[in-house]
Amino acid sequence: MSKPDPAEGRRSFLEKMTKGVSFFALGGVTGKLLSNALREEMVWQIDPLKCIQCGNCATACVLTPSASKCYHDFSMCGYCRVCTGFFPTDPTTLDEGAENQLCPVGAIQRKFVEEPYYEYEIDRTLCIGCARCAKGCTSYGNGSLYMQIDRTLCVNCNQCAIALVCEGKAFSRVPVEQQYVLKGSRMS
Ligand code: SF4
Ligand code: SF4
Ligand code: SF4
Repeated sequence: MSKPDPAEGRRSFLEKMTKGVSFFALGGVTGKLLSNALREEMVWQIDPLKCIQCGNCATACVLTPSASKCYHDFSMCGYCRVCTGFFPTDPTTLDEGAENQLCPVGAIQRKFVEEPYYEYEIDRTLCIGCARCAKGCTSYGNGSLYMQIDRTLCVNCNQCAIALVCEGKAFSRVPVEQQYVLKGSRMS
């Protein structure tokens, strides 16, 4: 019987090591891809029932303007003539003059429907996420105006900067399929 060749033994040992390293390297890459995929499946969103409209949404986001915007659940709205999300508490007159609007950037469109009903629509390209309208509507109205993270804008930071300062502790990661919360359906 021939003696084992020490060089052959080393070669075989090195081949096994290389395969092992490749396996672990592949495992590491796969794990990273998996964790990225999982992270992408979960996105930051606001629970409107916890939001206390503190105003930090407008200033804390890494984006300017903020990815936090006002949304309107029309199923909850009273279509009020005197909308407390649209008008300040002491409007001069009940018309659409800039001085009579609570929104600092005029992002809420008020449209007459029929006496005495009006519809309120948010132009999110203008909205800066200050939550003033949501506060007014929640304090004195039905709370149909509420804050949500606009998923078309948010870059889904590892740690949401607004979540860190959110006074209502309203932020959490949610599955991407449930990325928007329809407030009315949560309340029923
Ligand atoms: S009041 Fe603030 S949150 Fe509401 S629409 Fe205007 S900018 Fe957006
Ligand atoms: S995750 Fe980032 S981009 Fe999205 S709302 Fe939070 S701070 Fe803004
Ligand atoms: S930071 Fe939190 S409590 Fe404040 S307006 Fe945004 S979601 Fe609401």
